[in-house]
Amino acid sequence: MPAEWVDFKSIKGKVSMETVLSHYDIRLRRVGADEFRGKCPLPTHSSTSSNDSFSVSSTRNAWSCQSASCIAARSGRVGGNVFDFVAEMERCSIREAALHLQHSLTENQIPRVTSRNEESVAHAPENRPLSFTLRNIDHQHPYVASRGLSEYTARYFGVGYYDGNGFLRGRVVIPIHNEHGELVAYSGRAIGQTKPRYRLPAGFRKSHLLFNLHRAIRKGNRTLILVEGFFDTFKIHQAGHHNVAALMGSKLSDRQADLIGTYFDQVILMLDADEAGKAATAAARTALSSILVVQIVELASGTQPDQLASEEINQLLGGFAHDLPTPGR
Ligand SMILES: [Zn+2]
Repeated sequence: MPAEWVDFKSIKGKVSMETVLSHYDIRLRRVGADEFRGKCPLPTHSSTSSNDSFSVSSTRNAWSCQSASCIAARSGRVGGNVFDFVAEMERCSIREAALHLQHSLTENQIPRVTSRNEESVAHAPENRPLSFTLRNIDHQHPYVASRGLSEYTARYFGVGYYDGNGFLRGRVVIPIHNEHGELVAYSGRAIGQTKPRYRLPAGFRKSHLLFNLHRAIRKGNRTLILVEGFFDTFKIHQAGHHNVAALMGSKLSDRQADLIGTYFDQVILMLDADEAGKAATAAARTALSSILVVQIVELASGTQPDQLASEEINQLLGGFAHDLPTPGR
């Protein structure tokens, strides 16, 4: 666990893109009521022909660069928030960028991150977007129905039996996206007793993302329901709660905690009620409670969300405030 907690929520509310731009002495010109435009200042920018590709929205407190080579150098990311911007400028992790901004708030200025971060683990390769999608996936396969998924849910998530070639052949495939909605991998679930139960591509880092996070973000809800697995996610979604994402395991990584803190103000932990899940709930509560509001759903011992019917899920989640009131800012 990191030595210092990052108060993402407070930083998000206090640091504007304008403040960050002026720290780096970046000048843009106003092109609209809330939009600024100019030359891209990021180290990922190599194109000399795109002189006007960088823009900032002050109301959304967000930035983007439309240069194709710059986007490619950021693993396909078009833009982001203040954390992403500082992370790109300093070539550090989101957590380091947030810490950097947090320190600047107490010191009233934003000091530069020293170059010591250049060799840090933050530079572990990202999950790159895939250049292909699998075709001929059977959403009506009996296995999908046997897990309690409607055909609609299976189609919505792109889940189904894959009979093509490669390491996913003969498995139920589950498309995995990063928080920007880019497809980065397929997981393959065995349909019989075949081992391993799940197959993932070599080098895929599941600790770098949360399954279904991009859809939960898109819903605009400020509360996230956090579960362990793919099928937990499907069942919670099917019960009508679309603000759900999965750890793809029971261990919450620092990166996953960062992602949750960046996009949400409250998290409802709904992990499995077995020994591993209970330990994971305790660890996640400790890790997340200084970043955002944490609530815990108590399942009957030995059960997990993917075994529950929609009515049971609704009953369990009904007692929780699903969203926080809009803050007055
Ligand atoms: Zn750029």
